[in-house]
Amino acid sequence: MSAPNGTTLSHEEILRYSRHLLIPEVGLEGQKKLKEASVLVIGTGGLGSPVSLYLAAAGVGHIGLVDYDVVDASNLQRQVIHGMSGLGTLKVESARRRMLDLNPDIDVQVFNEPFTSANAFEIARDYDLLIDGTDNFPTRYLVNDVCVLLGKTNVYGSIFRFDGQVSVFDAQRGPCYRCLFPEPPPPGLVPSCAEGGVLGVLPGTIGTLQATEALKLILGIGTPLIGKLMLYNALDQSFEFVKLKKNPKCKVCGPNATVTELIDYEAFCGVPGHDHEEGSAGAQWDIDARGLAERLARAPRPRLLDVREPHELEISKIEGADLIPLGQLAGRLSELDSAEELVVFCKGGTRSARALELLVSAGLTSTTAVSLYGFGELSCSLSAVHRILATASSADGTSRVSGMRRSGMPSESLKPMIA
Ligand code: ZN
Repeated sequence: MSAPNGTTLSHEEILRYSRHLLIPEVGLEGQKKLKEASVLVIGTGGLGSPVSLYLAAAGVGHIGLVDYDVVDASNLQRQVIHGMSGLGTLKVESARRRMLDLNPDIDVQVFNEPFTSANAFEIARDYDLLIDGTDNFPTRYLVNDVCVLLGKTNVYGSIFRFDGQVSVFDAQRGPCYRCLFPEPPPPGLVPSCAEGGVLGVLPGTIGTLQATEALKLILGIGTPLIGKLMLYNALDQSFEFVKLKKNPKCKVCGPNATVTELIDYEAFCGVPGHDHEEGSAGAQWDIDARGLAERLARAPRPRLLDVREPHELEISKIEGADLIPLGQLAGRLSELDSAEELVVFCKGGTRSARALELLVSAGLTSTTAVSLYGFGELSCSLSAVHRILATASSADGTSRVSGMRRSGMPSESLKPMIA
């Protein structure tokens, strides 16, 4: 990424970037390289916030932002590029406003759409490098494959609770993400931040490291994290480095690559390609609060099964629901009765959909389990259920515990239904 001839810095820019110009490794030539560079940031959330802010501040001349969400109050614990004044507005617009306020001399292009196989080449083609600021496996594999197929560099970062990872994937100089992870994890095995949470400052640390890698790559200085995976833990402030090798059997960057065009990444990973928990078990299973109220008004009332984690009960809960966290469900099937109608619920529908799959595959009544879905955020979703449960409370309150119909389901472990 050599600085093209003819790029100049104005007097204002020289003042603005004076601390860069003082560093021999950056200097005027380096600052011109930054001004000419173009970087695409996928996601304007926790990672995208520091990445975009620092690239803008550093004077990266052309920055693209891809996101399709709107700013929500629950984002602000970590997505520091946004603020209260931007609530309800498009994230890409909110981010662009802040970046241009920080540095009006740069150009920020926004793409208010999901990054998908259909538009990825078109969006990414004109950028020098891509920064992965997403938190889901389909988009992560998509960003990787786009970079490999277009010959671009992918600055990767990921976060969960207190742990983060950073690497630079450049298939021409080292391994790609698929070399490291040829297959996605089974759906449900690795929770997302929307499901498991994240310490708000963690994406600040990891995103800042991604921005650092991007600036080094543009300037051609230092040693990029190519062939190295950096592992960070916030609790003991540890940084570890794992050497990565190119996988000769890699399906996208190996000599016998079979992935030569973009695929259906949601199908490949078996999960939706977005960051928030919002799942569906399919129209035949999903019910809304009103549908649940109708079922609860009929005798026998269905048993309510909450598949969230115990600590989530402190945020909100439905009285009378039984808690079996999704991760324990397979080992606790004996606590369920195949003859009993079940309503499975979680925060946003993803875990309940997985629970439903598990219950159906275990032979638990393929006709009466449903996934509670479609309420959006937890606070309003469960309060909506509360309201409707209150209106349904005049229904027959006696619990009828059905006998068992399937072997291996001991009746002595049956729990009472809604109290
Ligand atoms: Zn590879």
